[in-house]
Amino acid sequence: MLTIPDTKVVYAIGPENKPVATCHPGDTITFETKDCFSNQIQKESDLFESVGWAAINPATGPLFIEGAVPGDTLKVTIQDIEIRSYGVMVAVPRLGAFGHLVDKSTTKIVPIENGQARFSTGISFALDPMIGVIGTAPVGDAVPCGTPGPHGGNMDTRHIRKGATVYLPVNVPGALLCLGDLHAVMADGEVVVCGVEVAGKVSAQVNVLKAIVLPCPVVEDAENTYFLCSAGDLDEASNQVLESALYHIMSRTGMALSEVAMLLSLTGHLEISQVVDPLKTARLRIPAEVGKKLGIRLTAER
Ligand code: CA
Ligand code: ZN
Repeated sequence: MLTIPDTKVVYAIGPENKPVATCHPGDTITFETKDCFSNQIQKESDLFESVGWAAINPATGPLFIEGAVPGDTLKVTIQDIEIRSYGVMVAVPRLGAFGHLVDKSTTKIVPIENGQARFSTGISFALDPMIGVIGTAPVGDAVPCGTPGPHGGNMDTRHIRKGATVYLPVNVPGALLCLGDLHAVMADGEVVVCGVEVAGKVSAQVNVLKAIVLPCPVVEDAENTYFLCSAGDLDEASNQVLESALYHIMSRTGMALSEVAMLLSLTGHLEISQVVDPLKTARLRIPAEVGKKLGIRLTAER
């Protein structure tokens, strides 16, 4: 199986990045990933400020997928996520939802053992590993790996976990897939500016859906389909994700706008993925049964 080592990283996802590996549709690839601090924080005396912004949010890749051309959709099925034996958290002045309250930079090392992340003595939480950064190259300027957008990127969405499928646009030949920024545990919002940040390994199968374009990045698991949009504030991100789903369902079903609007009012659960990145990510969760009742697949496959 093809493995991309964690020495092959980018800090911005763009069309000029040279592919470090090539695969065919249907292949499974392993991405070794550094944590979002480039593995530079290893003890509690290592502070966020020592890392430097240039080393924040490495993503492994890019992977060139043969046959993927603009106008296609890349389908990435997450087969497995393995994580290292410790995670890192930070609280940093002026970062995250509490940045205006945090007066001193603090690092917490979180041991990971027996399926649990040990937050402090006697307080552990079950692991739920997820991928923070996963994206394809946009056209034009490269996007820093810390920023989410229509290309994917730093969406920090906890549903991007083992068993989920991520649908991303193919904007340039080969798609140029990158991923990284694993979290052992994270809640919606990612409020302090990080989850339990870990290095690790992701195995993913890539496929190309020819001549299919989705309105935004989409994640699917056994229970739900999630539309994801990112914008400068949550109002704008919410509007974008609602309209994306509205027009998408209209085009798939032929239903009238007001009918789909009512449907979404009953079945489209508006949620927040994260509020701490340069753009905020809103999520519209639609249970799988809705597509079944409508007789469509909400994702790229008809
Ligand atoms: Ca992240
Ligand atoms: Zn992260």
